[in-house]
Amino acid sequence: MFKELLIDLAWLYWKINRSFVAAFAETILGYGEGGFKVDGRQIVRRVEHFLHNVNTTVFLQFVATVALLPLYNAPSLPRSNLKRAFIRFWYGAKSFFAHAHFLLSSRKKRTEWVDTMFQRLIEEAPAQEDDKVKTIVTLTMLKTTLGMAYLDDERVWRALDYRPFTPRSFEPPSGPNLEHPPRTEAAHLLHNSRKSPRQIAAKPARRLTYCVIGSGAGGAVAARTLQQRDPEARIILLESGPLVTNDQFEPHVLDSTARLFMNAAGTLSEDQQFQFLQGRSVGGSTTVNNSVAFKPEGFWWENLKARWRALGIELDYDDLHAQYDELAARLNVGAVDDRVITQGARTVKAGFEKLGWPTSEVPSGFRNCIGCGRCNLGCQYDAKQSALTTFIPDFVRDGGHLVPDAHVAGLEIQERESTGRSRRSRVNAVTVTTADGGPPQRIEADRFVLAAGAYASSKVLWRSGYLGAVSGVRTVGKRLSVNAGSPVIGFFPERQNAFLGQQIGYAVEVPEERMIIETAFVPPGAASLGMTAWGAEFQRRLQRVNHAMFCVPVFASLAYGQIKRSLLGDSGFAIDFTLGDEDWRRLEKGMNITARAMFAMGATEVFISRFDARTVTRAEDVDDYLAGIGASDFITVQAAHIQGGNVIAHKPQLGVVDENLKVHGMDNLWICDASVIPSPITLNIALTVMAIARYGALRIPQTP
Ligand SMILES: Cc1cc2nc3c(=O)[nH]c(=O)nc-3n(C[C@H](O)[C@H](O)[C@H](O)COP(=O)(O)OP(=O)(O)OC[C@H]3O[C@@H](n4cnc5c(N)ncnc54)[C@H](O)[C@@H]3O)c2cc1C
Ligand code: SF4
Repeated sequence: MFKELLIDLAWLYWKINRSFVAAFAETILGYGEGGFKVDGRQIVRRVEHFLHNVNTTVFLQFVATVALLPLYNAPSLPRSNLKRAFIRFWYGAKSFFAHAHFLLSSRKKRTEWVDTMFQRLIEEAPAQEDDKVKTIVTLTMLKTTLGMAYLDDERVWRALDYRPFTPRSFEPPSGPNLEHPPRTEAAHLLHNSRKSPRQIAAKPARRLTYCVIGSGAGGAVAARTLQQRDPEARIILLESGPLVTNDQFEPHVLDSTARLFMNAAGTLSEDQQFQFLQGRSVGGSTTVNNSVAFKPEGFWWENLKARWRALGIELDYDDLHAQYDELAARLNVGAVDDRVITQGARTVKAGFEKLGWPTSEVPSGFRNCIGCGRCNLGCQYDAKQSALTTFIPDFVRDGGHLVPDAHVAGLEIQERESTGRSRRSRVNAVTVTTADGGPPQRIEADRFVLAAGAYASSKVLWRSGYLGAVSGVRTVGKRLSVNAGSPVIGFFPERQNAFLGQQIGYAVEVPEERMIIETAFVPPGAASLGMTAWGAEFQRRLQRVNHAMFCVPVFASLAYGQIKRSLLGDSGFAIDFTLGDEDWRRLEKGMNITARAMFAMGATEVFISRFDARTVTRAEDVDDYLAGIGASDFITVQAAHIQGGNVIAHKPQLGVVDENLKVHGMDNLWICDASVIPSPITLNIALTVMAIARYGALRIPQTP
């Protein structure tokens, strides 16, 4: 009741403020001329459509960002916390009521207003580091959404000379029609065979039933492996998100993120300094990932084993290593096809090599990829070999039950035995809520495999009342880690045409820092993420985007993060994760190497996503430009590789699953996803998650 009232009020607030948001969007995005003209009303229409498609948390957060917009800021802040809180409140209230004033101001006045707002926030940045609500972050989120809506306009695509695909001399798997690719055979199969929760709820008496929760890298592989090993078994694959196939993906970024990403790609850490990305449709994150598929070899494999062994974890490491190959064969993993590597990637590769950093082609899973550059929005051509196009169709073809739009709200856990502080329990069923709002369904099975991904798997356990096998010791949600990255962008005198090909082409390995640097690019809508400037400067950078190239240094954190209960967080939970000084130092080093590689190839300007939007124009100034970067620079740092939360440990006090991935203290529950990874692995993790899932699924006993 209270929630519904809040939602109604938020919609009312949004509707009243639409004209203001339109005017603000035009100002912050620099008005633009000709094909680049910023049309505020059009942006608001797109944003409103987006808001209708996101979950309540994202919707309320978005409306709050409009309400919290720091239109006025104190010229300086007093030292006393009390006085500071009062000043903040005063300027917050002033800003809240200033929307009409902004709207009625002239274009010149609005431009000056936004400039002053940014300048004040830049000065205030160090003081905001410890604030609970950081208006620098809320403003950046708002600007990014408005920027995406602007850059999703096909008129702007034409001005940018961007086309969603480039005709090639070869055809992708979906055939020759690149503009409206038809539904592929695999996609037809999935749509025709999908089941509803009601259809599969009851468990037949004499057939072993497995229920796998989550259809991403881990879940899809676990379901398929169980089926291959036990063809007589009944296997259910539940997925919280929708079934979206090649013919339904589309090139607009804002709508795609609402449909395909957890929390529309806006999940922030509790301190708001860190952004987590995860997929939420059939295929999970593999549907939106770049299909980079590293098998850790040499240093990386030895390092993984050494760090896991240091935690006392004794797996059959040879067997685990052997699992990669079979999976890689199904995913058609090979060096990214030279035909679709961009000029931008070649330029930076040459820069790295000039400085003595060897590069390698990134191993990836594709079939006749035409290099449209939109892997993160789902592949319209089924060229990307994700779980959606490989393991899940294989599973369904052989009689597996795929159930999309089935969100597991909780596990029904029955305690069987309790001795001292240890308990033994089993799962009897799961409760599933459906997207159509129908009554929850109870789904029975003999064995359960949780594979909802790092973060969601911990939430499912927590909501079900399982916090660990030893009472008083919470292991769930602990040891969260990430591979984290942040873009470096360079402008070159020559066109780099980085839209015209694979997003990721080459990688540089920096093993001593447990870091790799990948050449990368994103479609126009997502490019607004990296263009942190505002006003005319935003337009200047945007209009040079064909001359730009991105690289992303990605480093592995340590496992110091955790998932917590939080009233203000995402559906009652939050991720407590803050980069430490050592992490910032490593990121700085990766950015430094990248910036120098860009200058070595004649870049005229290089920048990172720092809030103050400063750039650097000479290699000699790179050290100064990056010196001491840290939390107060409000750089966009993202993790698409989230790991841990339910880590492997030989003792139940230390982790959630044992060395066979069985949950400690549970008779019939296993976890097969990135949440079991005890210490992060640096290289892109999807193939490792799949190998671990297969390793675990092969160890689930077949006997009833
Ligand atoms: C944008 C992006 C790009 C990436 N690029 C790469 C790359 O190129 N190479 C690489 O190696 N890695 C990449 N990754 C990371 C990689 O894809 C993931 O780490 C990997 O897929 C994790 O596997 P998982 O099974 O743990 O979770 P996921 O693949 O995320 O799957 C979890 C699934 O569980 C579902 N789920 C969640 N909660 C519930 C619930 N309560 N009930 C039912 N279902 C639920 C989710 O909707 C999701 O579909 C990328 C990730 C992203 C987001
Ligand atoms: S770039 Fe990605 S989305 Fe585009 S065709 Fe290749 S695999 Fe598919």
